Amino acid sequence: MEDEPLLNAGIGACLNADGEVELDAGVMEGAALRAGGVACVKDVRHPIDLAVAVMQDGRHVLLSGSGASRFAREHGVEMTDPSVFINNRRRQKRQAGADTVGAVARDSDGRLAVAVSTGGISGKLPGRIGDSPIPGAGIYADDLFGAVCGTGQGEAFIRLGLARLMVIEMQHGIEPIAVAQGAVDFLGKSLQAQGGVILIGRHGHPHAAFNTPAMPYAMAH
Ligand code: ASP
Repeated sequence: MEDEPLLNAGIGACLNADGEVELDAGVMEGAALRAGGVACVKDVRHPIDLAVAVMQDGRHVLLSGSGASRFAREHGVEMTDPSVFINNRRRQKRQAGADTVGAVARDSDGRLAVAVSTGGISGKLPGRIGDSPIPGAGIYADDLFGAVCGTGQGEAFIRLGLARLMVIEMQHGIEPIAVAQGAVDFLGKSLQAQGGVILIGRHGHPHAAFNTPAMPYAMAH
């Protein structure tokens, strides 16, 4: 999905205040709470692959900017000319930060995971890092309770620690569907922020909730 220009990830991602694409991505596995995130990368073809490489390496959770690019080169992750990400400058400038790409999953052994990739928000200051690569803010997965992924105003997700909060609510037995709706209500009421969440518990279907005009999502078995 990082190759789909209509989505705010990889090719077609929104532009920062300097008219450049800076990409964030994150991944977390619920079995051993392993996580990897990358931020402000400009020349990595698939930031989600780099997030996975950071997680698998295991020394750190978050890498950003030139250090993240260097790690990518050293670990054989595909690099690219930054211009590849810009295919329609006018549309990418207008993009309101919607259509980040995220997924939550549970396999047949009950293992949970989350992954997300985004250009962040349109017009952001260079160097800005959103919630997506940060475990606890935009993503979280714990096999014992659930996996969640957020989209929307990342600063609000970071300030609320929303992804972790949602997993704690599932830990306390609140139904996943109520957790999802409660999270977007909280986002709106506490910080007047807009966004959406997808989540999956240890059992049952995944759920989505949002307080934005729309948030396309799909489920597969
Ligand atoms: N949450 C992302 C960010 O703030 C943007 C989005 O999901 O649309 O970087």
